[in-house]
Amino acid sequence: MDSSGTLADKVVGKHKLLEVAVALPVSDLFTYRDPLSERCIPLGTQVIVPFGRRTVTGFVVGYTEQAPSEMRDIVEVVGEGPALDEPVLALCRWAAAYYLAPLGEVLGAALPRGERASSSRRMRLTKAGQEAASGETPAGLAAMALDAGDRAFLARLKKSRTLSVVAIGRSLPAEASRVPFLVERGFVEIVDAIRGTNKGRKADIGKVQLEVAKAPSLPTLNAHQDSAYAALLSALGGGYATFVLQGVTGSGKTEVYLRLIAEARKRGLGALVLVPEIALTPQLAERFRARFGDDVAVLHSALPPAERIAAWRRLRKGEVGIAVGARSAVFAPVRSLAVIVVDEEHDGSFKQEEGFRYHARDLAVMRASQSNGLAILGSATPCLETYRNVLLGRFRRLLLPTRANPLAANRPLPPVELIDLRRHPAPDGLLSPPLSLAVDLTLSMGEQTILFLNRRGFSTFVHCRSCGYVLRCKACSVSLTLHKAQGHLLCHYCGSTEKICEVCPQCKTPGLEGMGSGTERVETLVRQRFPQARVARLDRDTADGGRLEALLSKVHASEIDILIGTQMVTKGHDFAGVTLVGILQPDQGIHLPDFRAAERTFQLMEQVAGRAGRAARPGRIMVQTYCPDHPAIQFLKQHDYEGFVRDELSNRESAAYPPFWRMVAIRVDAPDERSAREAASAAACYARAAADSAVRVLGPSEAPIPRLRGRSRFQVWLSSTDRGKLLTVARVTQRVPLPRGVRLEVDVDPQSVL
Ligand code: ADP
Ligand code: ZN
Repeated sequence: MDSSGTLADKVVGKHKLLEVAVALPVSDLFTYRDPLSERCIPLGTQVIVPFGRRTVTGFVVGYTEQAPSEMRDIVEVVGEGPALDEPVLALCRWAAAYYLAPLGEVLGAALPRGERASSSRRMRLTKAGQEAASGETPAGLAAMALDAGDRAFLARLKKSRTLSVVAIGRSLPAEASRVPFLVERGFVEIVDAIRGTNKGRKADIGKVQLEVAKAPSLPTLNAHQDSAYAALLSALGGGYATFVLQGVTGSGKTEVYLRLIAEARKRGLGALVLVPEIALTPQLAERFRARFGDDVAVLHSALPPAERIAAWRRLRKGEVGIAVGARSAVFAPVRSLAVIVVDEEHDGSFKQEEGFRYHARDLAVMRASQSNGLAILGSATPCLETYRNVLLGRFRRLLLPTRANPLAANRPLPPVELIDLRRHPAPDGLLSPPLSLAVDLTLSMGEQTILFLNRRGFSTFVHCRSCGYVLRCKACSVSLTLHKAQGHLLCHYCGSTEKICEVCPQCKTPGLEGMGSGTERVETLVRQRFPQARVARLDRDTADGGRLEALLSKVHASEIDILIGTQMVTKGHDFAGVTLVGILQPDQGIHLPDFRAAERTFQLMEQVAGRAGRAARPGRIMVQTYCPDHPAIQFLKQHDYEGFVRDELSNRESAAYPPFWRMVAIRVDAPDERSAREAASAAACYARAAADSAVRVLGPSEAPIPRLRGRSRFQVWLSSTDRGKLLTVARVTQRVPLPRGVRLEVDVDPQSVL
């Protein structure tokens, strides 16, 4: 058999040595051999490999002919076919390079929890294996290939019934390399705890009210929607493009997405819809289900792993053409992907802030570009990065300037009244007399009010009136928030709780007192002030565990008169009866020590303002502030997003901040302050040595939250207008030798300064 020079030879021959990215924070690829030379393992396949003294998960990302001096065999090939398909693999490669993250870690993050082969995987004997192990007549020819070692191993496996795949690499390294052979010959099979259970449940996904999907009566698009839709439609199938669909809340953006996706599906193309924190916007997911029924997989973060895996598989097989999900759904294996929607693209939850740090909006744009599809970024208040891309001509903007609901269409956005707290003092800055009066009026007309305060809990800190001591989290350098209803003090950063104490831990007098206000205190105050009103509170304390939907439907049914809430009330809800929105303390957001503080506060205010007057009756917005002249407040008063953005862009430009300058934060932490400080200093030194005048290096400095979860934190900030140079310098800091326990993370395009 002469196969020299044929394609088959090239493919098979070169496939013998596999380049594997292990799902660990190491950036190198490692070469392994497949002991079964006759098969070909496709790219993206998940494998189990020995690594040092461990056995770990990895992904085949390439082939090589160059054998390293020391090379080991893979232990197992996981699943049938590659876990990650070619487009997702391509996206991950790009992301690993852009975010300076280890490819294996990126690939691991791209799989849903549970799909990643876990330590729970175990091997057991098949029937043939049982026979061979008990020394019975060899089961056919296959058993003839077994050597004494194999038989001993099978006997051992028989005795212990199952063995952990992970453990075997450690305890029986020699036998481990025979496992692929034994699996392939049918003596051993590998089972996963999670896989075992998902068989009965997989039908749950997307099996939604088919009746609803049949004939929803679709609204006729208004003129603005129509021209936006026409622009998108003519771009569909014509290669990559990113559109910004900028429309006030309620302008009918979602309706436009739905139409476009319907058209894409008609052509057999797939769609991906990213939404911020899907749990907070059940209605949006519902609208997709109502329109597309079985063809939608809603990748809810609360889905049990087995269901999530099932959804993933149905997408991969093309049984389902649309995925709706939060951040990590950007990696969903949608087939023939042609449309990617990022709804509320300015939302902070698209940034992954732990482990592999990425921005799902930016990955969505990249994925659209790699798959020659459309990205559609929807928002009433696109972020400055996106806006600048519009100005630069990279993204094309489509405007929906009016409300879609015909009852509200010709009405301008509700007027904004500023209440100067210096002239209208309010106890705790919570409810000034003019706002109180407006609530009364709204109540008397049988309409609904939203009061927005972006801080949950009762008091934001608790101090001792005699000695001034402030109760702090033991693991973090932040004060504890009093949550009266829950009966505890809570750290908003690490989530740890403490009992409410009677006496001051320092001076032992009973003088503890809560200071600063959160939504819980507002609720108490409102219940006192308006005893006749039906009051509800919407924040993470009241909306967990499925209570959100019940609460929202009560608001919809007008069974609530006054809804108090954190930014959860700003998220996309379409309440017809709300006519008054009170914004209680925007100042605290505006004055945060973060260059995005004004932008974020403006966005939140505009979002919550959009909850008023969405249907028949006109709305009214009241903003209580000590700084009525601040640009974020003044532009809000005019609903002048463009004006705000232009003003803010020029501030950013002169201060050398994004989107003009690019930034990288080097985040260093360690259990003790000294190691963290020293490692951060070393990182800064390395960076300064590597940087030319195009890259600025700031720091090291202590992080604004100097201790978090028991670790001291330091930062070094890099910035430049030259992305290539910036990343080169950032990469150099990754070479800083780190003592045990010290962690250094590179955060490209950081969103948080904390
Ligand atoms: P957005 O996504 O911009 O907030 P939606 O698409 O949710 O806007 O539309 C707001 C409301 O108006 C929804 O209740 C929607 O069903 C309705 N709507 C959308 N488009 C139209 C239209 N062309 N005619 C009538 N109602 C519409
Ligand atoms: Zn804490």
